[in-house]
Amino acid sequence: MADYHSVRLRAGLCTGCTACVTSCPTEAVRVYGQKAEILASRCTDCGACLKACPNHAKTGKVDSIKDLDRYKYKIALPDPAIFGQFAPEVEPQRVLGSFLSLGFDEVFDVALACDLVSEKIKEKLKESKSPLISASCPAVIRMIQALYPDLIKNLVPVEAPLEVAGQLARQQAEKRGLLSKDIGIFYISPCPAKVTAAKNPVARNKSSVSEVLSIVDIYGNILKFANMKNQKTLELKATGKGYGWARAGGESIAVGTTNNVVVDGIEHVTKVLSEIEIGKLTNVDYIECWACVGGCVGGPLVVENPFIATVKIRKKAEKLNKQQKINLSCVDQSIFDWDDGIKPRQVMSLDNNMTVAISKGKKLQEVLEKLPGYDCGACGAPTCSAHAEDYIQGTIKDTRCVFKND
Ligand code: SF4
Ligand code: SF4
Repeated sequence: MADYHSVRLRAGLCTGCTACVTSCPTEAVRVYGQKAEILASRCTDCGACLKACPNHAKTGKVDSIKDLDRYKYKIALPDPAIFGQFAPEVEPQRVLGSFLSLGFDEVFDVALACDLVSEKIKEKLKESKSPLISASCPAVIRMIQALYPDLIKNLVPVEAPLEVAGQLARQQAEKRGLLSKDIGIFYISPCPAKVTAAKNPVARNKSSVSEVLSIVDIYGNILKFANMKNQKTLELKATGKGYGWARAGGESIAVGTTNNVVVDGIEHVTKVLSEIEIGKLTNVDYIECWACVGGCVGGPLVVENPFIATVKIRKKAEKLNKQQKINLSCVDQSIFDWDDGIKPRQVMSLDNNMTVAISKGKKLQEVLEKLPGYDCGACGAPTCSAHAEDYIQGTIKDTRCVFKND
């Protein structure tokens, strides 16, 4: 599982149109043949290329509902983004209950983990002097590892709700006498980055989550069950603020900070991270970053338009704001800790040997001078410099700029 990626190419659907090439924030896509290629070392699974492809040739690989059969005891972990997918009259209680009809034995509401994580982040905010960056969006974490390694120290060292929910659900089931091998924990995800976070976590050795299903794949069944007259409902244990995490800005509200910046959409996130890197935003306490526009409701694996889902989840969350207080001391505090520190990912090196790297750097400069600097993507690389680098590294035999005269 060394370099697992959820975002994949369905080569049969790819026409080589290059629409995805310039959408990638980490320059991970090339189209040098007839088909796109994703460079695994650079991909963060943000899903931007998936949204950009007009032919649905990029996809987020998820597990299947048939995987329920592999476990004796099945626990669903629905991401709060799911509640924004349904009409106002479809209450979260009915949505949670519908998972029992779908074949699950138990439901652990991830919104409750959001509440717990919020309380833990509040503690970290009291201790910190520099701006803390939310560690909730796995695509943002991977982008920081790859492009902004100096900002790893700013990530708030608290496990994301996905993992906290998985660990709590597993711990509680084991306390009731179930064997770990019999328990299947299924995250219901709005995005491919969370699939990768469960299959190949960055801050822990192994995730508690066993399988990941997408919201889009189970939506139809859940809607059918939720609309049934006698559908079982489940009591809500989370607060409205926990559900509010599904949309950009909801996490900051739950954390209780007003001296914060909320940024969504991967291209905006890169701009804000660049500003922090050069020493700006030092007067801000918390920076909430989401790769998708609107936050998790804007993930590529959801059904509803993110702007409509945002309103739906906000209204539902506001209705529930009077729920009970969250008591952090009831849970084992180690579930919030990372197993490992988050390490940089080396993606932009010409060579490990410094002398060779300098020589390649000179050649790269010479090639670049002959390219127009339009960064149009027509050659199959996202920028002229990425194209020159591919040439220097031997990935391509010649440069093929459509604007080049010589
Ligand atoms: S998922 Fe994101 S990082 Fe990976 S290739 Fe697509 S756009 Fe690039
Ligand atoms: S956008 Fe990328 S993946 Fe989609 S058809 Fe065009 S080249 Fe292929």
